Order: sequence, then structure tokens, then C-alpha cells
Amino acid sequence: MTAPHASRPSGALVFYSEFDKFDIWKAALQTHLPDLRVLNSHEVEDPEDIHFALVWKPPAGFFAKMKNLKLIVILGAGADTLTGRDDLPEHVPVTRISDPHMARMMAGYVLFSTLRHARDIPFFEAAQRRGEWAYRHPRNPEDIRVAVLGLGELGSRAALELQRQGFDVLGWSRNPRQLDGVRCHAGMDSLDTVLSQADILVIMLPLTRDTRGLLTRERLMRLPRDAAVINVARGAIVDQQALTALLQSGHIGAATLDVFEREPLPPADPLWKMPNVLITPHLSSVAIPGSAAKQIADNLLRVTNGEPVNDRVDLRRGY
Ligand code: NDP
Repeated sequence: MTAPHASRPSGALVFYSEFDKFDIWKAALQTHLPDLRVLNSHEVEDPEDIHFALVWKPPAGFFAKMKNLKLIVILGAGADTLTGRDDLPEHVPVTRISDPHMARMMAGYVLFSTLRHARDIPFFEAAQRRGEWAYRHPRNPEDIRVAVLGLGELGSRAALELQRQGFDVLGWSRNPRQLDGVRCHAGMDSLDTVLSQADILVIMLPLTRDTRGLLTRERLMRLPRDAAVINVARGAIVDQQALTALLQSGHIGAATLDVFEREPLPPADPLWKMPNVLITPHLSSVAIPGSAAKQIADNLLRVTNGEPVNDRVDLRRGY
């Protein structure tokens, strides 16, 4: 449902993303708001005509001339793509995509990678390549502790999916949270306790002032020997060099990495060739036009009607 008594948004929406398809997003938005003018960034002739922006990693100065901007929508979940720039008008609300389908896609990736480690799939893949029938008895999920750092929109969904699969799930967030069947902890004081119990560690935190470099070598060393690390959040949350060294030494048994300090991961990076590492190119979840457009349209109407927007991001907090 769109906001009640909605008037039609005036002004145009500008779209910017190097990863997402303009035509598909335009069509999806116009399904909900047929009169909305949607412009690709290079089509904008008069920046003052732009009232709304739907953007993923816009270049520096992108918003500078948009004097009538009323809403910025991040084409994804991570607000770090907009922090630390000086062209953002303070009074303009910033929202993120909030879409159960996006959360489901992320939970699917986390479940897949957790099961891959829990069911020793890399061991069987290697054995198959040797032509070897190498039996290894499956472990009970209840005996495998999976710690999810970050219990937000995506993290909580993933934690619950893991719990449904029978894993012993721990969760960690800034403020105390309650999730059925998940052993929740909050705050820095409990991080070491959580890490020391993580047979599989799943990183689902936003990249903020507080989380940049959070997983130092010292903290990674607190993981039980042979633990697996899954990072679907942001590369810079982890000391990548330390992680690489610990994967080489065997202290950390394996990793599934979707995000990196530098993206694309440079061709010479040792992680590429490590047999205990699975690399995917930052796609564990993506914004899905068909399901996300409704929420964006709703927020456009809210702004037009002078109502507070949903899913607002606090850029000072960083998420
Ligand atoms: P949310 O903003 O909904 O939730 C963030 C969670 O992290 C909250 O539980 C929050 O705690 C917790 N948190 C934040 N700061 C701290 C801290 N300093 N200490 C402890 N906990 C903290 O995020 P989402 O779940 O929607 O997404 C998480 C991240 O996933 C995004 O920020 C993005 O970077 C990444 N992402 C990656 C994608 C990919 O394809 N690889 C796709 C989409 C997102 P509290 O609950 O107390 O506020």
C-alpha cells in the first residue's frame, strides 16, 4: 500500500549506479508512480528539477547542484557508500532499501556458505578431484556454533534461517536484541566471548567508524582453531592481511569472502589461490527492482506529503 491520501510527486528522480540497470528500475518505479519522471544521471539538464535521487556510489559532487533535493535513496543497504562526502545537504533524509526479498537473498547466501563449511563440502570437492571416495561423517548442526555479528535487517533474517537449520546460533549487536532461539549478546564487552565460541563466524555489520578494522589479528585469534569465517558485509571490517596469514597458518580453517578491503580484489592477492578460500565478487545480496520499488515509491510519496520517511539512515551513526 502506498501512503494514504498521497499526492503525486513533483520533480524528477535521478538514477545513478554502475551496477544496476536504469531501464529496469525506471519501469519498476513507474509501475507504482506512473507519472514519475525518472532520469538517468547523464540525462539531467536542470539539476534544480531533481527532487529525488536513487543512487549507488555516486561520484563526488553529484548532489552539489541539486538545490531542490528532498530525498536520497541508497540503492542498497550499506550507508558507508554515502558517508564522508561534503555534497550532502544536511536536511535531506537518506533512506536505504528495505526489502524482505533482499534479506532472503542474503540469508540464502549465508545459509549456503555456512552449510558448505558445516558439511565439509570443500573437503569432498578436493577428494572428488583426486578421484577418492573419502568418507567423513557429518556433524550435527546442533554441535556447530555459528556467530552472526550484526543483527539488523539482513543479519537477523540470516540468524533465524541458521537457527531453523538447527545450528547453535549466537548473535551480536550494539544494543541488546532478542531473537527466538538465538543466544544474543550486545556491546564491545561481549565481543571476545562471542568470538571464542564461533566455529563459524558470519560478519553482517555495517562499515562505520566503530566497525572499521574491528576484527584485528588479536580478535581473529580468539576464534576456535579451525573456525570458518564468512564475510558478507564489508572488507574493511576485517584486517584482511591478518585474516590471510591466519588462513595460511591454519588457525582459521576456511573462509567465504564476498567483500574485500579493495574491490575488485587485485589479481596478485594471495587469497585468490588459497584452496581454503571461496571468493565471490560482492553479490551476496543485491537490490531487486520488482520488490524494492514499492518501498521507494512509498517514501517518495511520504516526502511529497510532508510525512516522515521509513527506513531512514543516520549518516552520523553510519547505518
Ligand atoms: P542494519 O543497519 O539493519 O543493521 C546493522 C546491525 O549491526 C545492527 O544489529 C546493529 O546493532 C549492528 N551494529 C552496528 N554497529 C555496531 C557496533 N559498533 N557493534 C555491534 N553491533 C553493531 O544492517 P543490515 O542488516 O541491513 O546490513 C548489514 C550490512 O550488510 C550493510 O551495512 C552492508 O554493508 C552489508 N551488505 C552487503 C551486501 C553484499 O552484497 N555483500 C548486500 C547488502 C548489505 P543495533 O541492532 O544495536 O543497532
